[in-house]
Amino acid sequence: MAELEGLEFGKSDFVLLDEVNMEQFMENLKLRFEKARIYTFIGEVVVSVNPYKQMDIYGKEAIDAYRGRELYENPPHLYAVADAAYKAMKRRAKDTCIVISGESGAGKTEASKYIMQYIAAITNPSQRAEVESVKNVLLKSNCVLEAFGNAKTNRNDNSSRFGKYMDINFNFNGDPTGGHINNYLEADTTSNNDRSNHRAVLSALQVIGFSEEEIDSIYRILGTILILGNLQFETDSESVQVVGLEAVSHIAGLTTTKPDNVTKSLLFRTVATGGGEVIEKGHTEKEACFGRDAFAKALYERLFCWIVARINAVIEVKDYNPVLHGKNTVIGVLDIYGFEIFENNSFEQFCINYCNEKLQQLFIELILRQEQDEYQREGITWQHIDYFNNQIIVDLVEQPHKGIISVLDEACLTVGKVTDTICLESMDAKLGQHPHYTSRKLTPSDKTMEFHRDFRIRHYAGDVTYSVEGFLDKNKDPLFQDFKRLMYNSSNPVLKEMWPDGQLSITEVTKRPLTAATLFKNSIVALVDKLGCKEPYYVRCIKPNEMKSPVLFDDARCQHQVAYLGLLENVRVRRAGFAYRQPYARFLQRYKMTCEYTWPNHLMETDREAVEAIVTQHGFQDDVAYGHTKLFVRTPRSLFTLEQERAAL
Ligand code: ATP
Ligand code: MG
Repeated sequence: MAELEGLEFGKSDFVLLDEVNMEQFMENLKLRFEKARIYTFIGEVVVSVNPYKQMDIYGKEAIDAYRGRELYENPPHLYAVADAAYKAMKRRAKDTCIVISGESGAGKTEASKYIMQYIAAITNPSQRAEVESVKNVLLKSNCVLEAFGNAKTNRNDNSSRFGKYMDINFNFNGDPTGGHINNYLEADTTSNNDRSNHRAVLSALQVIGFSEEEIDSIYRILGTILILGNLQFETDSESVQVVGLEAVSHIAGLTTTKPDNVTKSLLFRTVATGGGEVIEKGHTEKEACFGRDAFAKALYERLFCWIVARINAVIEVKDYNPVLHGKNTVIGVLDIYGFEIFENNSFEQFCINYCNEKLQQLFIELILRQEQDEYQREGITWQHIDYFNNQIIVDLVEQPHKGIISVLDEACLTVGKVTDTICLESMDAKLGQHPHYTSRKLTPSDKTMEFHRDFRIRHYAGDVTYSVEGFLDKNKDPLFQDFKRLMYNSSNPVLKEMWPDGQLSITEVTKRPLTAATLFKNSIVALVDKLGCKEPYYVRCIKPNEMKSPVLFDDARCQHQVAYLGLLENVRVRRAGFAYRQPYARFLQRYKMTCEYTWPNHLMETDREAVEAIVTQHGFQDDVAYGHTKLFVRTPRSLFTLEQERAAL
């Protein structure tokens, strides 16, 4: 629990609400936002509301105030959490992670940057050059990833179109020695490329260690994507042609391939017939457009993944000898899209929301486990906490042979025409009885007079209706093998490296590539495994309004986010056990003036006895438990009494 600021700023920890209900939660959140208190705790979780204006709370002074202090000694701040994670890592050699979630524009990436800056500021006091260089590359990598992975959307001018998890490794001194980045599910990017940005990115690429040849290749690929964006087809006397041949020769020049091969990949696909014969099949104009778009998208995706891999090669910890250098510890920072509930929800929202179910599952498990461990350590009887376990929803999505992903994959692998609607029917057949699944037939839309169908998942954060349209196409690897071969056969070694699967000839491509949903599931399972063995810290970001305004607190929008981030549940879990705990000596220090037996000094044998005297004098002995080293208080009300008395003295 944070040190109480004046009550005019609201309650600095939601655990201190008189009652846990939406009304009180929102009242407190709004009051704090209006008073420019953008951070509030729920125990060790930081709830953050995007201020949409520069705040004077991140300077050196603030960094010094939080450095090495306990969570409750300062007002809530990202720095408090960053410092807690850092301390756990340094003092107790624990691997830790900071999970930042919230919707687009809520402030996740900004928060992750402040956390990184804080860690950079408090490490390497002796300014050793090699550590400075690691820190510099870690910070610069952000700039490059943002340049290639962010885009202006109508919800955020600098929206991350990918989820990012970054591990920072530390040596026994607590200084960073390197790191590793994982990226997740990159959505379409349109990239930010104004001139000043461009220069910063170029210099960042150079600092990280990209060679001239690599940087040149990056620009060539970006150029190719731009040309593909303008490339048109036309159909004359039944055959499809590219409009304007300069585009083709331009692409061939940029990718160091032959113009004839470029044209061929754009207009034909190679297929193996049942009899093992290999034939070239001409595209229809529609297929050619589809192929071109899939190619441009794949070029970008592979470029992005390659950049991440290149950065990883530079920042990976080298020459670390645990015998010589002591245990290598890690702080992970996860900046990932939160729950998305739109008017129209599609495959992307399905993946994102599934990811959030997994993270929620982990959150519940870890928070409860942490509580349980602490109670055990302190010799306190464990109280059962009643909470909604969302495993049932996770199963609905990911269970082998039965879950939604498995039904989708089956439909994608089925030979012949399987439409989205047929796929939905098999989902209904398998999952129709599931308590968190509903399928709905909508009325025919005027335009198409077809039955549009959708299904609904009752997520832990609320009901989301997904339109099944496009699910199958998005789940399949839509890229014709011909493009992969074209790129693999480029004489540019960087391009070739990005397309190793282009080596396979058409008859060798027997195994179907994994589907997008399965790849995503695998990466999220691996992420959860990684996070699961670390001590977690959470930042929950809220976007106050749609207008990017620093003064507008849109009650309905905020309440919606509080609900789907599960924040009330979070407060309840925290309060179901003991809302508040503090080492005896600290408690005594803070409240000794409220009791005649302890002021100015106590004569008892132990601090614990002195704390017992305070508790008994104020009559809340039934509300506490005495641990080996800490006092545990069940309801915060007891603390209010003490705080008020303290303030009145
Ligand atoms: P997305 O999911 O789209 O990537 P996000 O949650 O990462 O969104 P940010 O890019 O971090 O959102 O924040 C959006 C904008 O809000 C920032 O560009 C900045 O203008 C403003 N903002 C966020 N956090 C802060 C802050 N702590 N102080 C000042 N401005 C902020
Ligand atoms: Mg972001």
